[in-house]
Formats: sequence, C-alpha cells, structure tokens
Amino acid sequence: MVILGAGLTGLAAAYHLRGPCVVAEREATVGGHARSVRRRGHTFDVTGHWLHLRDPRTRRLVADISPADAWVEVERRTAVHAHGALLPYPFQANLYGLPLAVVRECLVEFIAAREAAARGDRPAPRTFAEFAEARFGGGIARHFFVPYNRKLWGAAFDALDASWVDRYVPTPTVEQVVGGAIGIPQEGLGYNARFLYPRAGGIDALPRGLAAAIEARAPGTIRRGSPVEEVDVRGRRVKLAGEADWRPYSALISTLPLPELIARIPAAPPEIREAAAALRWIRWRYLDVATRAPVPADYHWVYVPSPALPFFRVGVYSNAVASMAPAGAASLYVELSDRDGPVDARAVAQGLVEVGALARADDLAFTELREIEYAYVVFDDDHGPATAALHRWLAAVGVRSCGRYGAWIYNSMEDSMIQGMEAAAWAEGQAVAATERRPA
Ligand SMILES: Cc1cc2nc3c(=O)[nH]c(=O)nc-3n(C[C@H](O)[C@H](O)[C@H](O)COP(=O)(O)OP(=O)(O)OC[C@H]3O[C@@H](n4cnc5c(N)ncnc54)[C@H](O)[C@@H]3O)c2cc1C
Repeated sequence: MVILGAGLTGLAAAYHLRGPCVVAEREATVGGHARSVRRRGHTFDVTGHWLHLRDPRTRRLVADISPADAWVEVERRTAVHAHGALLPYPFQANLYGLPLAVVRECLVEFIAAREAAARGDRPAPRTFAEFAEARFGGGIARHFFVPYNRKLWGAAFDALDASWVDRYVPTPTVEQVVGGAIGIPQEGLGYNARFLYPRAGGIDALPRGLAAAIEARAPGTIRRGSPVEEVDVRGRRVKLAGEADWRPYSALISTLPLPELIARIPAAPPEIREAAAALRWIRWRYLDVATRAPVPADYHWVYVPSPALPFFRVGVYSNAVASMAPAGAASLYVELSDRDGPVDARAVAQGLVEVGALARADDLAFTELREIEYAYVVFDDDHGPATAALHRWLAAVGVRSCGRYGAWIYNSMEDSMIQGMEAAAWAEGQAVAATERRPA
C-alpha cells in the first residue's frame, strides 16, 4: 500500500493500517499544514492550529501517541477588533462597546432578519454574503462578516456560496444578541470554546508523535524528501523522485491537493482534467512575529475586519502556551490581506499596536514572511460538480483522495485524522478484494 503525503491524514492512515505501507512525503519533515518552525527560542505553527477533539476515536489516538500529560486544555480567549473597540468573539453576540449608532443598526436589522426568516418570504441565500445578511441582518453583515471575509478570501469572496459555513459560524439566540448588545458578555459560543495544545509547544508534536509510533513499528515506512512524480493508475504503481523503480501498490491513498494529484496522472481523461481546472483555492501570506516584550493583549487570537488594517487575524501563540516564546517575549502570527507585493512592515507594526498585540512598534524582535499555497478551498458553484466528478473517477481507478486538500474541503485536524483512519479501513478492504480476485 502506498500513501501520498505525511500530513495528519496520511500519517493517521499509516498508523491505522495493519499491513506494511510506504508513505511518500515531499518535504524533509512530516506534518504538512500541522508543522511548526523554531527560531531563536520562538515556536511558530502555520498560523493558529488549535486542536479540538470531539470524537472518542481521535481522543484515543492522541492519547496513544503522546507522552502522559503532553497536552494542555485551554479555554479559548478570542476577540474582535472593530470600530476601535476590542469585543469578545463572536461579534454577532457581543455588540456592546461599538458606537451606539452601529449597535442600533445591527440590532434593528438582526430583528428584521429574524422576522423575515419566521415569515419564510425570502429566497434561500445563495452566496456567503446573502447567508450572513439573512442569518444575522444587514448591520452585522456590513460591520463584520462581509469586510472580514473580503480580507480573508480576497477576490474569491464574491464567488463563495453559503454551503460550508453553518458548522463554523455560531448563531446566537435573540436573547444572546440582546444580552451581548447591552453589555452581558456572551462567551463560549461556537464549536471551539476549548482547545488542546502541546504543553511543550508546537502543534507538530501531533504529526511527530504519529510518525514516531509508525516508525517504531515499521522503520523506513515514511520516505521524507520523496515527492511523488507520477501515478500510473492502470499499472497500479507510483514513481517517486530519486527512485529508479516504480513502486507497485494494491491500494493508493492520496492526500495531495486534488489538482496536484490529477496533474500527476497522465491517464486522466480530458473531462477529468477540466474538472480539476475548475477547482479554486486561495493562498495567503502570514508573518511569524517574535517580540522582545510581553504583549498587552490576553487573547489567543483576534479577528480584524477593518479594511484600514493590513491583516485580518492575529494570534498570540504564547498566550495559549508560554513555552512558545522565551520568558518575557511573545510569539505571534499575523495573517495578511495582501497576497502579493512588499509587506509594509511599519503599517503592520502600527496595526499590531492598535489591536493590542504589541505595546510599542519597537517591541518587534524579528518577523518572517511565509506563504500558504493551499489555504482554503473555494466553495463556489463549480465546487460540488467538479469534486463529485473527480472523486467518482478516482474511486473507479482505485485511488482514495482524502484529507483537507485531497477531498478538497474545509476541515480540521481532527477531521483529517478521521479521514486517514477511514482511508486505512478502505485500503484494507481493497487488499482483501484483490486477493479474492486472484485466481487460485
Ligand atoms: C491557515 C490554516 C489554519 C488552520 N487552523 C486549524 C486549527 O486551528 N485547528 C484545526 O483543527 N485545523 C486547522 N487547520 C486545518 C489543518 O491544517 C488540516 O485539517 C490538516 O493539517 C490537513 O492535513 P492533511 O494531511 O489532509 O493535508 P496536508 O497537511 O496538506 O498534508 C499533505 C501532505 O502532502 C505532501 N505533499 C504535497 N505534494 C506532494 C508530492 N508531490 N509528493 C509527496 N508529498 C506531497 C505535503 O508536503 C503534506 O505534508 C488549519 C489550516 C490552515 C490552512
């Protein structure tokens, strides 16, 4: 069996497979988007990677691969910076502190949206912007959802449909919205009120723990620095860079981004190439930021909808787990709205002071600019038909494409590990079927 990619999906698949397998990973380290880097005593992830475990299978898995007491449970502290005020998250349930005219606008339009929903006389929302307006009213949409998501999604914002948001956007009751508007903080709303994080710092403890368990059982399973060059679905074999021979497989699990996988399958017919070409995603840039002084804010991350500030979200790793930075310093991530061009370091530093993430611009010790090529998949009108066609065809040629970018979805680390487990069960079923097909 061959697994392409040693992110959390590929590693969880390898961990759960009972038979031998090979995991081909392009990079020198495992972890994919759940990796960490360390610089001068500071640790940074690929922006915030906070672990939420709801499923007993993943709780067991994480416990099995981690040393005792390796994880801390943290009560989420999240804020929204809007109109110069720092509000508790989520915006829609914590309007108190905004200019009064804005609070009134948001409340009146929220109530109007609720009335319209009760009458059922509005067409179902099609776009994300329509969803926000129908669910929360025009005021909350205008002051938070639309500007924030425009910064995050860039040009793709207008193409977004409403299908993916429900699980991730908390919908408060009328009582919560009114309570939050008159100053009763509404905290703990939403799917991620608490999270787990490695006590010793760096989310890569999770993929590294998985890799160590896999390699303790079967050394040599993970081939680091082994990009997949080609997949021959007819011959059931893959070509890894640097290896003279093709590697045969009985079942292939791929966690590569879908367009990257299709590009490596010469046998993919034209309609499949067309479907892959219809897939859209956004990339973004972020800064690892190290400070030489403590930060004023106590939040773990803050949402920043204002178009005047050059970032849409800022997080402070060391506010969650102190070991992420040297004593008296802090480690931050800053997710930038601009996807290209030079970064205006002064504007970023001033913006960080404005949102309370720095006391003074001079507290910056160093920054490093990074890019995430595949950050979010774009759920537009083509997404459903294109992914359905691609998965149908891949299943027919014996390939399971899974994980966040393999399935081409929006998901969490926990979801990815579950996809890996399910892929392992599928691969074992394939191997049994192949044995049964073999003539006696
Ligand atoms: C900005 C951001 C923030 C996030 N925050 C959170 C969070 O707070 N909490 C949470 O639970 N989840 C979060 N996630 C989601 C989480 O990162 C993913 O669910 C998970 O890491 C996906 O794992 P994966 O194995 O499916 O994909 P990946 O991590 O992308 O792994 C795929 C692997 O394939 C490898 N690869 C690619 N091309 C090749 C090739 N040609 N040959 C060989 N190998 C190749 C890659 O190097 C990589 O290691 C976040 C994601 C992003 C982008």
